[in-house]
Amino acid sequence: MTHSPSAAEQSHYRICPLCEACCGLEVRTQGDQVISIRGAAQDVFSHGYICPKGVSLKDLHEDPDRLRTPLIKRDGQFIEASWEEAFAEIHKRLPPLIQAHGADTVGCIVGNPVAHKIGLLAYFPRLVRAIGTRNIFSASSLDQIPKQLSNGLMYGDWNTLAVPDIERSDFLLMLGANPVISNGSLWTVPDYRGKARAMRERGGRIVVVDPRRTETAAQADLHLPIQPGGDAFFLLGLVHTLFAENLLRLGHLGPHLAGLDALREAVHHFNPERMAPACGIAAATQRSIARELAQAERAVVYGRIGTCTQRFGTVNSWLVDVLNILTGNLDREGGAMFTKAAAFAVNTSGTPGQGRGVITGRRHSRVSKAPEVFGEFPITCLAEEIETPGPGQIKALICIGSNPVLSTPQGPRIAQALSSLSFMVSLDIYLNETSRHADVILPGLSPLEDVHYDIAFPQFSYRNHARFSGAVFPKPAGFPEEWQTLLHLADIIQGKADAALAGPEQGPEALIDQALRAGPYGLTLDQVKAAPGGIDLGALQSRLPEMLRTPSGKIELAPPMVLADLVHVEAALADVAEGMVLIGRRDTRSGNSWMHNLPVLAKGPERCTLLIHPQDAARLGLAQGALAQLSALGTTLSAPVDISEDMMPGVVSLPHGWGHDLPGSQLHVAARRPGVNLNALLSDGARDPLSGNAVLSGVPVQISATT
Ligand code: SF4
Repeated sequence: MTHSPSAAEQSHYRICPLCEACCGLEVRTQGDQVISIRGAAQDVFSHGYICPKGVSLKDLHEDPDRLRTPLIKRDGQFIEASWEEAFAEIHKRLPPLIQAHGADTVGCIVGNPVAHKIGLLAYFPRLVRAIGTRNIFSASSLDQIPKQLSNGLMYGDWNTLAVPDIERSDFLLMLGANPVISNGSLWTVPDYRGKARAMRERGGRIVVVDPRRTETAAQADLHLPIQPGGDAFFLLGLVHTLFAENLLRLGHLGPHLAGLDALREAVHHFNPERMAPACGIAAATQRSIARELAQAERAVVYGRIGTCTQRFGTVNSWLVDVLNILTGNLDREGGAMFTKAAAFAVNTSGTPGQGRGVITGRRHSRVSKAPEVFGEFPITCLAEEIETPGPGQIKALICIGSNPVLSTPQGPRIAQALSSLSFMVSLDIYLNETSRHADVILPGLSPLEDVHYDIAFPQFSYRNHARFSGAVFPKPAGFPEEWQTLLHLADIIQGKADAALAGPEQGPEALIDQALRAGPYGLTLDQVKAAPGGIDLGALQSRLPEMLRTPSGKIELAPPMVLADLVHVEAALADVAEGMVLIGRRDTRSGNSWMHNLPVLAKGPERCTLLIHPQDAARLGLAQGALAQLSALGTTLSAPVDISEDMMPGVVSLPHGWGHDLPGSQLHVAARRPGVNLNALLSDGARDPLSGNAVLSGVPVQISATT
């Protein structure tokens, strides 16, 4: 960094790309230095809110470990290379593999950061099309695909997700979600804490169902501990009660529903008494919550990651919407409402009120035969697809902003598989636990060097808005834009390696402008750019039936594949949990595996700790701060014990994304307190078979004191 004390201070507006809340930030700079980062008061959506991660953009920009030049592996060592040399290496090694083994020999995997970068999200499909591979994987099958599948089946589009209209609601029932920490997930709601406080101050009530008394539960009116993996039973108990006690209030939804009788028939065995032992919530409590939901003037149910990371993730996600519908709270002020995004939404294009719907299983993975969902195979199939010989075996991998070695069940197995590849390219800002296996690493830009327009999150925001931010700093000389990198990789694969990098007419700004003009508000990018802090497009409005894209033009209340899975829910009632089970958790200062190298976030108490209830700690002879051993699937980890009344007895919690002690990574801050890799304990064969989502919650684990 060149310090320029004589340069004038400047203020820049930047949308934070680090989580789904999409807060507007004010970045003050002097020359090429970041002076400060704070919440942008003029932002029409986040109104000045910021969390510690937003501040860390300065550390990320300045991180000496952040890659600033391509790397090529020679004789097992990475050497710095020019972009031309890196592209030439890819050209030399990747197309011959495709020619020899076919397109499916290339696997493509994208991580969570891709969702926050238009240059990657919008252009990745073009790279996939150029390759022609079916072997696509993403972080979606770790925590969100069940929600997208259930809503796709019900409303006809993968991204048509109803979100709590929290500013007008009276009753919020939440499962497996911790928005005080996350500020929403598949629900973009910066400053959830402030909005929840305002809701309670006007007499609203919040109930949180979670095995841990989370930060969100602590702020709620009622916390109901639930047996991990038991959400389907609890939700079915509620739905059963609504039918049994004649509490249905379909109201304006009636004409738009299909499958009500099939739903009634499908749930009639699941009475609260039968559900109680399996979910750990008394039948009387299930009934009282169902009644409260039905009788509240304006109520909403919201379920998130904890409900998706279970064997019945899709069933759970479906039941959340079923409850909102049966109580008349879908598409209604104060209930669960549909955002109308200014651009890029399927539910604002094509014929209003009808569409092709969604289908799954157009193909199946080669080894496990897992169905394709939303164009992808489960990420937990990655290792076996690399290891198993035969036609279609993955021998090359393009890995974009993804670190499956730490973020995916059986990460050590994935590491082993990656080391057997014939060729691997990573597009990443770090030399991390996964990119160390690459043959070529192409560095990403600092977020402060990139333009920003969110494609996904305005489709499930708490309020309608359109916002854009430009780059704070120019990108380094000779650096391609990330979208140019993807298009050039496509060129290389299509035999056009000598083609010049694509020009701005093919870039994101042209794309955004086109999408805004075609969108429901008829905006232009210039209009959005000209509005300081973005354009507020108002509170959520009722959108039925125009937002539906199902073939029937109705809300499908009883999708056959989901109803068929109830047989397995019934069978699982007999599975009595024995021993300790493990769940994950989120931390404000962490985001999966990749923010542990930022000093402003890394400081403070140890975060990779094992939360355990005092009774369990006493029984197992575990003392506060001592190391506990966790064992599952033949792997044993040691983590410091943190005894907490917040945990449900019989349940322990360890965050994921840790384990930064692997050789060959270049993450100096993270390596000082590496933590342990929770995912080493999780099975890559345990999935929700409908969506392919990994089972991450309620996993049996043996705990003992370290001897
Ligand atoms: S909550 Fe924090 S990390 Fe998320 S967008 Fe806002 S400032 Fe960024």
